[in-house]
Amino acid sequence: MIEHLSLPLMSLVVFGLTASSLSSQEIANVVAPVEPADVELIYKGEKKLRGLLITGGCCHNYLFQGLAITSGIEAYGNIEWEVVRDGGTGTSAEIELYDDPNWAKGFDVVVHNECFARTTNPEYIRRITEVHRSGVPSVVIHCAMHTYRDAEIDDWRQFLGVTSKRHDHNSEYAVRVTKPAHPAMKGFPANWVTPKDELYIVEKLWPTATTLATSVSEKDGKEHSVIWVNEFGATKDKPGVRVFGTTYGHSDDTFRDPVFIRLLASGVFWAAGVLEEAPAGAKAP
Ligand SMILES: [Zn+2]
Repeated sequence: MIEHLSLPLMSLVVFGLTASSLSSQEIANVVAPVEPADVELIYKGEKKLRGLLITGGCCHNYLFQGLAITSGIEAYGNIEWEVVRDGGTGTSAEIELYDDPNWAKGFDVVVHNECFARTTNPEYIRRITEVHRSGVPSVVIHCAMHTYRDAEIDDWRQFLGVTSKRHDHNSEYAVRVTKPAHPAMKGFPANWVTPKDELYIVEKLWPTATTLATSVSEKDGKEHSVIWVNEFGATKDKPGVRVFGTTYGHSDDTFRDPVFIRLLASGVFWAAGVLEEAPAGAKAP
């Protein structure tokens, strides 16, 4: 089953869909994850962006997360969302959206927040990555990094900018910012600690990727990229497309944290190309 949820209708749909899975307090938290009065716009332009959120699969509360992402990011700039929540709750699916080779037509940015580790079909995976390679920027969250994990081809991992196949236990992880001057990290606190979340073990950072923040494994003390950017599909004739990623985003509590939602908003607007790059050597204000 495919669900296309248009955001103006979403708050109505939510109640029908979530009566059994969310308490009224949870719904209230999602519909208003941040107080509008506390929010300073990240994207101040008037042009309305069109965002596509693709979500579904194993192990996470994707309805809740989807609402937190879409309604939360809307508070930071002029963007409207279409949400495709599809593929059930298992670890393997091929969703209808990607039957269309131009599946992202008309969208300025695509957010991947899905979890299908056992989907391995190379043609299917390349219908996704080729659309991004052609110039559609993206934000990738948490289990997107373990999606297509069992695939033999590396196309999805090259798109992500990281290779990860496992994670450490749930804990509250300190996040150390390594590139505070990057426009997507503007306003991100220097001392943020995650709500209970999973630390993904990044076994490879691809050469096109740049780490923006790290966390340390409580098991072996190794430092892992947890926020990064990637430039995907560059050729000698053209630059690559922007990808912004974070491996955090396991628990609902992470999606209730305004720091995390603001980070995702910064990533979305940076990927879409509407944030100014900081001039070289400029001090953060
Ligand atoms: Zn998870």
